[in-house]
Amino acid sequence: METILVLTHVDETGSALTKASLEAVSAGVELARQHTATLTIGILGVDATAAAGAVAATGARLLAVSGEAFAQPRYATDAAGCEALCRAAQASIVLAPGSSRFTRVAAGVAHRLGGWIDTHITSLSSNDSVDATRWFYRQRVEATISREARPWFLLLDAGTHAAFAGEAAAAQVEVVAVTLPTVRTTVEGLRSPMRDAQTIRPDARLLFVAGAGWTKKQPDGQIHVAEAGELILAFLRLSGASLGSSKSLADQKAEGEQSVLPFLTHMNQVGQTGSTPRHAKGLSTCCHGEEPHVVGWRFIGERRAISLDPNCGWTRGKADVVYIADAFQVMAKVNALLEARS
Ligand SMILES: Cc1cc2nc3c(=O)[nH]c(=O)nc-3n(C[C@H](O)[C@H](O)[C@H](O)COP(=O)(O)OP(=O)(O)OC[C@H]3O[C@@H](n4cnc5c(N)ncnc54)[C@H](O)[C@@H]3O)c2cc1C
Repeated sequence: METILVLTHVDETGSALTKASLEAVSAGVELARQHTATLTIGILGVDATAAAGAVAATGARLLAVSGEAFAQPRYATDAAGCEALCRAAQASIVLAPGSSRFTRVAAGVAHRLGGWIDTHITSLSSNDSVDATRWFYRQRVEATISREARPWFLLLDAGTHAAFAGEAAAAQVEVVAVTLPTVRTTVEGLRSPMRDAQTIRPDARLLFVAGAGWTKKQPDGQIHVAEAGELILAFLRLSGASLGSSKSLADQKAEGEQSVLPFLTHMNQVGQTGSTPRHAKGLSTCCHGEEPHVVGWRFIGERRAISLDPNCGWTRGKADVVYIADAFQVMAKVNALLEARS
């Protein structure tokens, strides 16, 4: 019989679990139910015991490693904390969110436990064995993996499971002692970009995609790049959407041929040679909707597009709703409505 451990960690408040951790908890609860396996949840963070109440409703055994050493992500301390949780749980299957904090240490912890690890897991199922799925080759090939080796560590991609949302309750938490290694890395603080500069927001409900049309000559014979930039940034500010880009738009900066949108980089590029983000909704603007771009929309729930071209790719079955309209006019109106509402 399998023994399942879900490794979780706290968010920047220090005392609440991250959304990705709660998603891993849901996956663990479901897998334990399918397998009639025992479930343990391990929590790592400065005040891990305070965070435990949010998952008390699972009925799982709760383990915590707490203290100032875990206030900041750091390889030496996080690896020691996760190792201690794994040894205390004696788990055969270890699920963890594929967050930057755990992605950094999980392979090392698996090695210390003599285990195996697979990453970017999108779903789990259970027959006689535990099966995990992940995508390869730019989300084109989906593989199902199962392993004999134990302990088996599985890092789950964010957004692939619903976050656990049980009633918070008083929790009985076992505090696990950690023998800390010599710590050479001191975290002096965090530097994060301004909200306007950070345009990639994986947790946003909406993906807003800008295409090359924003920088093309418009019906008046002129280009309006400055206005395009203002409209896009205003929409991102008002809606909290994440910003994606077509390759044609992202490439313009690299080629330096004309003034382009300075806040866009190749990190924003969606598609075959870009990213495949997960959002509930997507709105494409000034983009033609060609296949190498739309392949990156695989995990977008509801798709809408604004294009001047009634024969664009979006109208050929790639979007749920297409507005044949001028995106400059539409987005100006949308921004005004959002502004009035806020
Ligand atoms: C191997 C390979 C890999 C590729 N990988 C990717 C990838 O990862 N991602 C990607 O995006 N592309 C990729 N491409 C390129 C892709 O095929 C397209 O060339 C690209 O997506 C086109 O970008 P676009 O639609 O923004 O630009 P365009 O094709 O120039 O389309 C601009 C659109 O904007 C519309 N428009 C103009 N003004 C307005 C307005 N005022 N209002 C509304 N609409 C307006 C026009 O009608 C037009 O439809 C790849 C291509 C190859 C060969």
